[in-house]
This record gives sequence, C-alpha cells and structure tokens, in this order.
Amino acid sequence: MKETEIIKLFQEELKSKVLGDDAGFIKLGDRWLLLTNDMLVWRTDVPDFMTPEEAGAKVVTMNVSDIAAMGGKPIGFFFSLGLPRDINEKTLREIAKGIKRGTKRYNVEVLSGDTNESNELVIDGGAIGEAERILLRSGAKPGEVVCVTGDLGRPLTALLLWLKGEKIPREIAEKMKNPIARVREGLELANYASSAIDISDGLSKELWEISKASKVKIVIDPNSLPVHEKVKEIVKNPVEVALASGEEFELVFTISQEYLDILSFEFSIIGRVEKGEGVYTTTGEKVPMRGWEHFAGGNNDIGS
Ligand SMILES: [Mg+2]
Repeated sequence: MKETEIIKLFQEELKSKVLGDDAGFIKLGDRWLLLTNDMLVWRTDVPDFMTPEEAGAKVVTMNVSDIAAMGGKPIGFFFSLGLPRDINEKTLREIAKGIKRGTKRYNVEVLSGDTNESNELVIDGGAIGEAERILLRSGAKPGEVVCVTGDLGRPLTALLLWLKGEKIPREIAEKMKNPIARVREGLELANYASSAIDISDGLSKELWEISKASKVKIVIDPNSLPVHEKVKEIVKNPVEVALASGEEFELVFTISQEYLDILSFEFSIIGRVEKGEGVYTTTGEKVPMRGWEHFAGGNNDIGS
C-alpha cells in the first residue's frame, strides 16, 4: 500500500480529522497543544555517510520541524528505540549524544523514552509544542503568494551522489547530516501566514498538500526556486531536483503580500495562489506529485 492509502485507511477507521496535518492539535484553555511523531528506520532512512550522532539529532529536528510548521513553540521530545540484539554500546552512546544535541539546539526537554528489541534499528521520536494560533495547510487563499525559507536541492543531490558511489561535497552533505528546523520562522509566520507545511517529502509533494487542503490552485515559477548554487553545479536538472528533494525541513507558506516586508527572516517568493485546483508552473505544466524515491529508483539524470 502507498503511504497516502495507509493514512486514508486510518482516517476512515479512526474518524480523525487531524491526522494529515504536520502535527495534531487540541485546545487546552486558551492555547493549542501540538503533538507529532516521526520515525527514523536505519536501513532506509540513514545513509552510511551519516553518523549515529547525526541520526539522533535528526530525529529531534524531524519532529521539532512539524511543530514549527504549525507555528508552534516546541516544548518537549520523547522517543522509542527498536534495537537489534547485537547493537553495540558505542552506537547507542552516539545516538544518545545526538538526541542531547538536538534537544539542546531547540531548548526542549526529553520527557519520556522506551526501548524494545527489534530486527532492525529504529528511532521513533515525538515532540509536543504549544501555540496561540496554529498554522494549518488549509488556509491558503487566492491572491496570496507562495514562499519558501532557505535553499533547496542539497539532500536529494547528496543521496543521488551517494547512490552512485561518488564523493559528496561537504556543503552538499551538510544539510542531510545536520538539518535545522525553522522554529523561529514558524513562530513568526503564525502571526502572518495563512498556511504552512515543512518540506519532508519534497517541495512538489508539499505544494500539492496545501493545494488539496486549501482547495486552491498553486502556480509556481521554476526560475524562482532557491536552488543551492552547488546543486546547480552538480545536477543536470536542478529544478526537478529542488522540487523532489525531501528532508529539507524548510517551511513552505502562503501569505498576503502586504505582510512580506514585516517578516524578519530570509525567504523566496516562488509562486502564487489562484482559484482552482492542482499545482502548475507559470508555463502551464502540471507539477508532478513525486518525491525523491522517483529519482532514487529510476534512471536519474545527474551530471558527473
Ligand atoms: Mg511535516
């Protein structure tokens, strides 16, 4: 089954409305409590150019990023470890150091942990956060602009080079190894943006999520994507790579133009929201809803 089909199955059975945004949310008094969980499976999610410490820190970032995408302030982190019987102490200690580094970075407490034996190494993490106002995927309105923080393309470029057995430049590997969640940006966006999502599965997939949830059409200008300079040097198809690159943990958001000058961080305007449905380029091409697996699995067109 595809991930989308699995999510749908559980939404139907559990009759849950909140499964499907970046984090779940419930009102506690006059504030929102946010809760999210995101798992790292060693065999499929951790390429061997990453250290166990980096993986530990990344699990924290993955989860904190979902709180940030809701416009929330992260408060706490919790985790469960699935550990093979032959796991060594050194690896475990590095993972623990990574979790410590991650939680220090975002100033969150480790609230709870659990371990169990499993066939392969799994670090399942979770985070809680709080917010006065929450940013959903469903608030985008025609007339607004679509923006993204940071740069795009490095994580997928790193994976493509790795799959080919080629050397990965440090600058390219860095974002895969040490991604950073956009917490400050998310908190600020809670006051001004109409919708937001973090890029975990690739920009194109996240744009489709906003389009579907908000029932709007999104039109992006491929030339305006903030593709990292080094990515442009390495890949032949930088726009496609930027659209498909996952684990960026940048925030994609929609916002009324009048607020753009107020934002105190850097971002790129990549498109606009219109009436209608779907995600298209300014030249009228439909943007495919595919993530990096498409590139990794297929005959990818990367330069040498
Ligand atoms: Mg997310």
